[in-house]
Amino acid sequence: MNESLKVQSHHLERGAYLYIRQSSMRQVIENIESTKRQYALRSRATALGWTDDKIVVIDCDQGESGASAVWREGFQRLVTDVGMGRAGIVMGLEVSRLARNNADWHRLLEICALADTLILDEDGVYDPAHFNDRLLLGLKGTMSEAELHVLKARLRGGILNKVRRGEYRCVLPTGFVYNDAGVVLDPDSQIRETIAYFFETFSRVGSAHQTVKVFRDEGLTFPSRLRNQDTTIFRPLSASTALRTLHNPRYAGAYAYGRRRYRRTADGKKTNRKRECNDWLACIPNAHPGYITWDRFQENLKLLEANGRGYDIARSSPPREGAALLQGRAVCGCCGRHFRVRYAARRGKLESWYVCDRASSASAEPSCQSIAGPPIDEAIGSLVAEKMTPAAVELALEIRKEIEARHEEADKLRCRATERAQIDADLAQRRFMMVDPQNRLVADTLEAEWNDKLRALAKAREDTERDRHADRLVLDETIRDRLVAMTTDFKNLWADLSTPNRERKRMLAHVIEDVTLIKLPAEGTTKIHVRFKGGKTETLTTLNPKSSAKQVKTPTTIVELVDRLLDDHIYSEIADVLNEQGHRPGGSARRGKQDARFTALRVAYLAHGYGLRSRHDRLRDRGMLTKEEMAARLGIHVSTVVSWAEHGLVTRHAHNAHAYLYEDPGPNPPLKQCSRWNRLRDRAAVIKPAKGSTPSRSTEGGAV
Ligand SMILES: [Zn+2]
Repeated sequence: MNESLKVQSHHLERGAYLYIRQSSMRQVIENIESTKRQYALRSRATALGWTDDKIVVIDCDQGESGASAVWREGFQRLVTDVGMGRAGIVMGLEVSRLARNNADWHRLLEICALADTLILDEDGVYDPAHFNDRLLLGLKGTMSEAELHVLKARLRGGILNKVRRGEYRCVLPTGFVYNDAGVVLDPDSQIRETIAYFFETFSRVGSAHQTVKVFRDEGLTFPSRLRNQDTTIFRPLSASTALRTLHNPRYAGAYAYGRRRYRRTADGKKTNRKRECNDWLACIPNAHPGYITWDRFQENLKLLEANGRGYDIARSSPPREGAALLQGRAVCGCCGRHFRVRYAARRGKLESWYVCDRASSASAEPSCQSIAGPPIDEAIGSLVAEKMTPAAVELALEIRKEIEARHEEADKLRCRATERAQIDADLAQRRFMMVDPQNRLVADTLEAEWNDKLRALAKAREDTERDRHADRLVLDETIRDRLVAMTTDFKNLWADLSTPNRERKRMLAHVIEDVTLIKLPAEGTTKIHVRFKGGKTETLTTLNPKSSAKQVKTPTTIVELVDRLLDDHIYSEIADVLNEQGHRPGGSARRGKQDARFTALRVAYLAHGYGLRSRHDRLRDRGMLTKEEMAARLGIHVSTVVSWAEHGLVTRHAHNAHAYLYEDPGPNPPLKQCSRWNRLRDRAAVIKPAKGSTPSRSTEGGAV
């Protein structure tokens, strides 16, 4: 009666909107009855006077929750049409079908009131423009939202309770199955062994990517269970699978739940965000058998995290194949960043360099420092080989023994603490037992006290147990012998040329924490600060290799020697002297030039290059005369001077291979004689005994 009064002709002129929704796809498939009931509302509209062609069915929101309107297209269309005045009535089985969210619901009511649109549910017709109807509808909306909350809380609460006990069954990762006893390893041995090999490989190579590479190189496939949970297929291992497997605590035998938080974003998309380990809803280690231990799992996570910080300032990297021993372990002494390793083929050899160029690549600042690898690696290699001696192990074991003795003492003290807590608890218990049960107040206080003491006792016991476990690392004789043997093995393995560099680096990782390098260009050295595992440090110094220009440069000592020799010798003689003394020209450092020797030309280059005073100038400084000057002085022809010099009447000195300068003949120069009988040969024979002290100076081409 009331209904037909509310429905007016102008309502009938507009459409009747039937909104149909089910919360989830499962309901859409299984809860057919409810869907049928929703469609049955059509007949209500017909009964109220709407013709069939005026009835609009909006059913595109099947499988969507009513918790928000944002991602429900159909609902948005409904609101739009109501706002445009196209709807005379909006029908829904109940309010909860239209909106589970009060904000959405009230907005719809508001618009309906403005557009004069009626609302129909199973109970009747409402006019949102009327206060009473609107009040009722508002209440229904509130109830609907509350209903959703209660439903959720009940379902979720039940699940969470089970989760906390570790009994809630969630989907297991590949390699585990449920049986009567709970979670067990997959009975399929191929799956089990592959997963075990996967974890073993990771602990060997230290990175997820390298693990994938090993699997690919060895042609291995990795099991992957399909979503139906029955079929397991084997396919090539991918990096994402490797990372997921490494991050999954269930492989460590732990029950974990709530590792991610699911949220709806403002635009209705589902997102999940990782929760920190201590925020997980449940994490029960050793809940079922696993492939690795819980400790191993934690270590793996740390390793992955360290590997992931590729662009961080301080970052070490897992060992790779290259020759640079300190890859991922060398820290720049100037800026604290980790060095990168660069390789370059020079003169047919692969040379390694430690380069600190992060500042340069990030902000175009000049490179911090770059250090040649081979001298550093050599120094580190010999240091490590030197440190790993049986004597060092003996010493370490001695220290270990001392620490153990100290631990025993500490253990005794801890036992005392437990005993004391026990006595306290006993006392509290006795006090509680003796009190009159009628005296409730006193009894309550004493009971609380007793409980406190018991708690303290449990804690003391727990502490003792935990500390004792941490200390328990007893090294017996056999282990000692094995350690000593291992050091020998270590040395052999280290020196073995066939040991791959990666393995050498992994060995190094057990001994050395990190190495700080500082290049001192002024001194031509590099300081190496080594930090061993355990905190001990040591400093080494290596010589920087010479630059290729410096390698071929003639040493200053040779230049000085040439300078001295120029006083008395010409170039070709100097070359002979240098070669005799075993000196080699700078260029002999070049490949294929080892046989190079000094020649007159090379010495000439040296003299010119270093601006040494020429022999000609030196002789002129000593007052020597040119041929022409000498001829003028003696009053003879130049060719006569040459002839006289050849016969030793005057003394001459070579200033190069062809030219000479002449010594001043002094106050009594040889005189020109016209007699053809007094031959030059005879005159020279007369002079020679007189100048016997310097006979060599006059010899032909002589330049001594
Ligand atoms: Zn640096």
